[in-house]
Amino acid sequence: MTIEMQRGSVIVMDRRRGKLRAGQGLLQGLKVVWDHWAGSFRTNDNFSKIHGTFTVEYPDERLPMPQAYRNMPVLLFDDESGHELCTGCYQCQRICPPQVIHITQAKDPVTGKMVPAATEFIIEYDACMSCGFCAEVCPFDSIKMDHVYELSTADRVSLTMRKTQLNRPISYYTGIAPDLWAEAQAGAMKKLQGSIKRRPDVIGLAASLTEKIKARRLELAAAGQVAGGGGQEAGVAPAAPAAKLTPEEKAAKLAAMKAAKQAGGAPAPAEAPVELSPADAKAAKLAAIKAANAAKQAGAAPAEAPVELSPADAKAAKLAAIKAANAAKQAGAVPAPVEVPSTPLDAKAARLAAIKAANAAKQAAEQSNNE
Ligand code: SF4
Ligand code: SF4
Repeated sequence: MTIEMQRGSVIVMDRRRGKLRAGQGLLQGLKVVWDHWAGSFRTNDNFSKIHGTFTVEYPDERLPMPQAYRNMPVLLFDDESGHELCTGCYQCQRICPPQVIHITQAKDPVTGKMVPAATEFIIEYDACMSCGFCAEVCPFDSIKMDHVYELSTADRVSLTMRKTQLNRPISYYTGIAPDLWAEAQAGAMKKLQGSIKRRPDVIGLAASLTEKIKARRLELAAAGQVAGGGGQEAGVAPAAPAAKLTPEEKAAKLAAMKAAKQAGGAPAPAEAPVELSPADAKAAKLAAIKAANAAKQAGAAPAEAPVELSPADAKAAKLAAIKAANAAKQAGAVPAPVEVPSTPLDAKAARLAAIKAANAAKQAAEQSNNE
């Protein structure tokens, strides 16, 4: 019979209905005792089907805990990445009734800004009342209630648990509460990925893993295999440079080609516009100097005073190349079969073409001297 109770109402119990006869109550009580006593002899193979009073031979025999059973809080970390789910948001610390949670949030060592991770996380197990509020409030599903209840100790200090003692892999929690974790998993892992992106270096990694990583880095550093401070190992081939020429390389190539052309008897008009990038005067200048030196060795006096080359001025480099070519021509150089690259190769090929042109001029000058 369902009794609907309303606040302030008076409940009148009708004890006349189903009134027991003399001795009937005593027999009913004895039946209950008998059922419980008989039930205590049943094998405890499935506790959920047992309704009588029974015992287990603890500690050899233990009752399985319901998934939602809660004893003391623990902190989860991801098995694969090793990152802790906790972001150090202080929600659990704020809500804890006996105030037994103490958190230190992590900071970026370079910028000094807060990082979504906790450098230290302490729970005083000796004062925790297992209310589970911390696990309920945690927005990152980081803190969960453990099923371990054998925590008796004579050393009270050992019940102050630090992060290293609180850390549990997610696989541990899925072992004791698979359904509860299945409900929370998708959201928790998504939030964890967001946190990982904002964590520099080893911050936020489970303490046990952090120590291993640091030890490994020291080993590699000792072996001379660590490149820089970023933990990148040497021996990894750098990305292949792009084959495309930079504007500077194109300019150097163009200057060298002009010089080669002029040395080969096809002088370009001085006024011909040569599009040189001022950024790479150095490469163009080098090609021009090589051509000028070759012409000089061939015995040709420069037509005019040497041009002063400024590394910053590509035009000066171009002028020097033209003068060198003219000098080679005056020395009697015949058009040499200079291999001028017709396809956009690189600046190196262009410089090679300039050197070949200068050599051709030199050979021509030697021939004229012999004659
Ligand atoms: S279970 Fe309750 S008392 Fe224990 S740490 Fe969490 S909030 Fe605090
Ligand atoms: S355990 Fe949860 S609630 Fe507590 S600081 Fe970490 S993320 Fe926040």
